[in-house]
Amino acid sequence: MAVPSFAPPHTVYAGPFWDGVAANELRLPRCTGCGAFQWYPLAGVDHCAGATLEWTSVRAVGTIFTFTVVRRPFLPGSSKADVPITSVLVELDDAPSVRLVGRLTDGFDPVIGTRVSGEFFDNDDRRDLQFTPLGAGEKSSRLNGGSDG
Ligand SMILES: [Zn+2]
Repeated sequence: MAVPSFAPPHTVYAGPFWDGVAANELRLPRCTGCGAFQWYPLAGVDHCAGATLEWTSVRAVGTIFTFTVVRRPFLPGSSKADVPITSVLVELDDAPSVRLVGRLTDGFDPVIGTRVSGEFFDNDDRRDLQFTPLGAGEKSSRLNGGSDG
């Protein structure tokens, strides 16, 4: 059964995002005029006249800016068996202007400021992306030992 995902919906504008995920890459739209990343995916550039958007691969590494623990199944197709799940807002190292909403890998306590890395995985019939704390092997024992987050 697929796990709930917080990634952008499969629209024509977000297509290149999902093409990247399928190739185990995090790709974001970047302005050819000034180099700024533009997130959320849109049809065109919203700040530099005449520029275009170019999908650029970035490292799926960043820091948890904030999080929400979801206790009610609200996403389409989700059920009570799918919760609780944690949604994180990740500031990406390679695109500091972007805060990407994502899913925290099950089993980890969310802590603001935690360094995380994107992990690509098969979510039923499609590739998906979730975030796991860096050095999770060392940290998880501490977190499981009773962090109050
Ligand atoms: Zn620009």
